[in-house]
Amino acid sequence: MSGIADLFLHLIFPATCPLCGKIASSCCVNCAEGLLSPNLPICIQCFGPYPCDKHSDSFPHYYGAAHEGQARKLVHLLKYGHDGAIGFSLGVALSFLLAETRADALVPIPLHMGSPRLFNQSKKIVKGLSCKLKIPLQDCLSWNVRVSPRAPKAAKDRDPLPENAFKMKYFPRGVKTAILCDDVCTTGATILKAASALREGGIQVVASLSFTLGQKGTYN
Ligand SMILES: [Zn+2]
Ligand SMILES: [Zn+2]
Repeated sequence: MSGIADLFLHLIFPATCPLCGKIASSCCVNCAEGLLSPNLPICIQCFGPYPCDKHSDSFPHYYGAAHEGQARKLVHLLKYGHDGAIGFSLGVALSFLLAETRADALVPIPLHMGSPRLFNQSKKIVKGLSCKLKIPLQDCLSWNVRVSPRAPKAAKDRDPLPENAFKMKYFPRGVKTAILCDDVCTTGATILKAASALREGGIQVVASLSFTLGQKGTYN
């Protein structure tokens, strides 16, 4: 967005960067980039190094930061503070992680059924990624089952996701490969179930991406 448009929006909806306090913008891309650490991709199945010796059918998961500190604060502002512009900045900031990855589509993890959220935070991130990487966004998945939001519970206390947790909402024409995107990845279970729904729809997931990586990765 141009500076003038930013300023105009600020007059209507005053916003400041939650990290540096600059007015007339939401989160600066520079500030979001400052939170990212140069993490190597991990195996989505075991969170070990990728390529993985144990899981030859796995795909790499890229992430920007551990789910703690300022990065966690930004995720919470995006999700619970309803500041969608943060998601776009995060997507732009994260795009360098996928610089070497080619795919036909970027697919966000959808909102849970009956979610009270005003928007899908993962889709906001994908919009930023899509703008930078020139890979189209395809919001082609939906939840197939009603499950309670997973964020606050410890991973070990969660019910396992059913095999058919997701379904295809539509079949994007000409799409053979995709990158799955979520705001936070904690166990990899959500991404793996989404990947199997896409696979059944004829789309191979070549990589996944989240802004932050939670417990399983943090403590391994
Ligand atoms: Zn800033
Ligand atoms: Zn593995």
